[in-house]
Amino acid sequence: MDECIFCRISVGKSPANIEYSDNDVAVFWDINPRAPVHLLVVPKKHIPSVDDMSEVDEKLFGHMIGVARKVAKDKELNKDGYRLVFNVGKNSGQIVDHVHLHILGGQPLGTMNEQMNGSQL
Ligand code: AMP
Ligand code: ZN
Repeated sequence: MDECIFCRISVGKSPANIEYSDNDVAVFWDINPRAPVHLLVVPKKHIPSVDDMSEVDEKLFGHMIGVARKVAKDKELNKDGYRLVFNVGKNSGQIVDHVHLHILGGQPLGTMNEQMNGSQL
């Protein structure tokens, strides 16, 4: 999908601050960080959202989480903890229609209850 920004970034056709790349996924820094460390794990295959994944994608999604864990460890986020987030569709505020897993860390991120009361994370 040449018009999709995350397709383009993941194969190096558009610029981004790439942290990790392999045959199946790329990890790069979010352009509008909401935490000191805010990275996105993006599959090279175009899948609009988690809701569009099929059975054949299950291994890929497992790989995305494995890569997220490895990158979080490289950034030493594992010591104090971090958050992994998939936004799915309109109510979540998903703005890029290409699956991405947010990695957020480097400071306390607030509890889920606090978020439901108006925090942005
Ligand atoms: P979401 O709301 O889950 O769709 O989040 C999409 C994320 O992608 C947002 O946090 C944006 O800041 C980020 N983003 C959008 N365009 C770019 C880009 N060109 N490079 C890096 N991050 C981006
Ligand atoms: Zn795409």
